[in-house]
Amino acid sequence: MTSLRFSVVEKAFQAKPQPVAVPDCRPSEYFGKYVFNREKMFKYLPSTVYARLVDAMDNGAPMDRDIADEVAAGMKRWASELGVTHYTHWFQPLTEGTAEKHDAFVEHDGKGGMMEEFSGKLLVQQEPDASSFPNGGIRNTFEARGYSAWDPSSPVFVVDDTLCIPTVFIAYTGESLDYKAPLLKALSAVNKAAVDVCHYFDPDVKKVMAYLGWEQEYFLVDEGLYAARPDLLLTGRTLMGHEASKNQQLEDHYFGAIPSRVAAFMKDLEIQALELGIPVKTRHNEVAPNQFELAPIFEECNLAVDHNMLIMSLMRKIARNHGFRVLLHEKPFKGVNGSGKHNNWSLGTDTGVLLMAPGKTAEENLRFIIFIVNTLMAVYRHNGLLKASIMSATNAHRLGANEAPPAIISSFLGDQLSKVLDHMEESTSDDLVSLGGKHGLKLDIPQIPELLIDNTDRNRTSPFAFTGNRFEFRAVGSEANCASAMIALNTAVAEQLVIFKTEVDALIEKGEPNISAIVQVLRKYIKECKPIRFDGNGYSDEWKEEAARRGLDCETSCPVIFDNYLKPESIRMFESTGVMTRKELEARNEVKWETYTKKIQIEARVLGDLVMNHIVPVATEYQSKLIDNVFKMKGLFCEEEAASLSAENIALIKKIAEHTSYIKEHVDAMVAARKVANKIADEREKAIAYHDTIAPMLEQIRYHIDKLELIVDDQMWTLPKYRELLFIR
Ligand code: ADP
Ligand code: MG
Repeated sequence: MTSLRFSVVEKAFQAKPQPVAVPDCRPSEYFGKYVFNREKMFKYLPSTVYARLVDAMDNGAPMDRDIADEVAAGMKRWASELGVTHYTHWFQPLTEGTAEKHDAFVEHDGKGGMMEEFSGKLLVQQEPDASSFPNGGIRNTFEARGYSAWDPSSPVFVVDDTLCIPTVFIAYTGESLDYKAPLLKALSAVNKAAVDVCHYFDPDVKKVMAYLGWEQEYFLVDEGLYAARPDLLLTGRTLMGHEASKNQQLEDHYFGAIPSRVAAFMKDLEIQALELGIPVKTRHNEVAPNQFELAPIFEECNLAVDHNMLIMSLMRKIARNHGFRVLLHEKPFKGVNGSGKHNNWSLGTDTGVLLMAPGKTAEENLRFIIFIVNTLMAVYRHNGLLKASIMSATNAHRLGANEAPPAIISSFLGDQLSKVLDHMEESTSDDLVSLGGKHGLKLDIPQIPELLIDNTDRNRTSPFAFTGNRFEFRAVGSEANCASAMIALNTAVAEQLVIFKTEVDALIEKGEPNISAIVQVLRKYIKECKPIRFDGNGYSDEWKEEAARRGLDCETSCPVIFDNYLKPESIRMFESTGVMTRKELEARNEVKWETYTKKIQIEARVLGDLVMNHIVPVATEYQSKLIDNVFKMKGLFCEEEAASLSAENIALIKKIAEHTSYIKEHVDAMVAARKVANKIADEREKAIAYHDTIAPMLEQIRYHIDKLELIVDDQMWTLPKYRELLFIR
C-alpha cells in the first residue's frame, strides 16, 4: 500500500514561509483602503447626499430613491477606480457563512450595446433567488421570494473585483431569514431602553451603542495533511486519531514564539484585514499546538459582527495562499483545547460614556451599577436562552469539556464588584441620601476604585465574566456567527432595562425621590439575581450540583437546549422588544434542529466510509502479515517454541480481530439507527434521536479505531496522525 500520508508529511515538513506583499505605506494609511467609509463618502458624494447618508447610517433615517441613486453613483465611481466590475448583496443566512451572488455592472443600453450601470434601486434592494437557504418553512416554494436590503450602518467594501453591499435578508412576507435583521432590531431595542435609563442622569444622551470585541481562535493545518484527512475535509474535525504522546501538557505553545510560516500567514491576513477596515490588533499562539488567536479593537456591534464574518472568510482564503487550511471548528482535535470566540460586550453612549465602566463620581457609579445589575438580571432570567444562542452541534463538543466554559451560564464579577453589590444589598434606607452634593451620598459607591479593571482575578472558567469595563461572553463558538449571541444578549438586556425603568418610575410616581427609587429596585434585583453570580470553579462537579439547586439551566443535550427559544418568557422577550415573532422563532428552531441532524448525519457517513476504506483494510492487511509470520515461525521452529515466540503476535491478531469486528458491527448498527431516525418527521424529535443514539456511537467506534492506530504498523497507516497534523507547521 503506497502512502499518500508520507509524501504529504514530507512536503509539509519542507514547506517554507510564503512571501507577503507589504504595502509601502503605514498601516494607518492603508487602513480602510477598500471600504467606502466616511472619508470616501465625503470625497465621492455631493455634500447634501453625504449628509443624508450619514443621517441614515447614524440615526436610521429613511433614504429616498433620488438620494440612493446618487449614493450608488458615487460608490460606483469609487469602486471603478479600484477596477471593480461586479457588485453583490452580501448577507448572512442561517448557515455559518455569508452568501453572495455577483452581478456585473453591465446593462443593455437599448441600442444593441452594453453600458455600465449601478442604480440606487440595485443598491438598496435585490431579490436573490435564494430559495435554497435554510428558512425553517417560512418560505414554501410558491412564495419563495426573499429580498435583501441594504444596511447603510455597515459600509460597503471591495473584495477582488466585487463591490460588497452588506444587507439584511428577509422573506417576502417580512420575516427575517438571516442574522443581521434581528441583530439590528435587538441593537435598536437596547439603544432605546438604555437611552431612557440614561436620562435619569443625563438628558443629553441620544444614543446608546452596543460594542463588541471578538477574539477569534483557530487552528492551522498544513494543506497537504488536511487533504489526506477526509474527516477534516468534510466535517471540519477529526473523527478519529489517537492523541500524540506530547500535546499541550508542557504548556509550551501558549504565547510562544509564532512559527515563521504562520507568522507570514498572520501578517498577510492582518494587512488585508486592515485594508478592509477591520481594526485587527492582537495575535498570539493559543494553548493547543497549532492553535492561534486574532483579536481586533472593539467596534459597534453590527459592524463587529460583519467584520468577524468577513475575517473568517478572509482567513480561509489567505490560509490557502500559505499552504494551510484554517480550522474554525470548535473542537477539531480530541484531547487538546477547542476554539472559542470570546465576545467582549459593553454599552456606551454617544456622549462618550462607557456604561459598563465605573466612573469617578457617585452618580456615575450608580449608573454603572444600574447597567451591571440589569445585565446580571437579564442573564439570570434568560440563562437558558443565552446558552441556546451559543449552542450548536460543533460547539457542543467544546462546552463542558475541561478547557471551555461549562454548559451552565453563570457570571463572574470578581471580588471588588461582588463586594459593592453585597454592600448595596445590605444598606438600609437610611443610607440612601440624595446624590445632591458633590459627596452627598452615604452609599459608599463613590469609592469604587477605578482600578476595578482587575486582570489578576480573572476566572477563565466563567462563561460570562465581568472584566473591568465589559462582560466577556466566553461560551461563543469559534465558528459561530457572533450575531446569534448578540441578538439574545442585547434583547435580554433591552427587555430588562424596560422593566427596570417601569419599576423605578412607579416608585417615583408614588413620591419616592429618583435615587432612592433606583436603589430600591436595584437592591431587589441584586437579591433576585444572586443565583447567576458564581466566582468559583465552573469546571467542578460541585458547581453542577450547586447550579441545579440554584435553578439554572443545566441541560446538556444540544437539540433540547434549543427549546429555550420557544419558552413563553423567551417569546415574550423577543416579541415585546420587536426583535422576532413567535413564527420567526419557530422557523429558526426548525433550522437549528435540521442543521444539527445533518451535521451528525454527515459525520456518521464519513466515519462509515473511513472505516470501510481505510481502517478495516489496513488493519486486516497488517493482521494478515502477522498471521503469515505466525505460520512461518512454525516452519522454522518446533511447535512449542514457535507457539511461545508467536504468543504476542497471536494476541495482537486477536486484538485486531476484536476491534475490527466491533467497528464493523457498530458501523452497521449506526446505519440502522440512522434509518430509524430518518423516518422521524418532526425535526426536533429527529435531532434528539441523532443526539441520543447516533452521536454516542461515533465516540464508541472512534475508541476502537484509535486503539487500532496504536497497534497497526505506522508504515501502513494511511491517515495523517495527530502528531503530524498538530506539530507540523
Ligand atoms: P483577553 O485575551 O485578555 O481577554 P484581548 O486583548 O485579547 O483580551 O481582547 C479583548 C477584546 O475586548 C478586544 O477585542 C478589545 O478591543 C475588547 N474590548 C476592550 N474593551 C471593551 C469594551 N469596553 N467593550 C467591548 N469590547 C472591549
Ligand atoms: Mg478575552
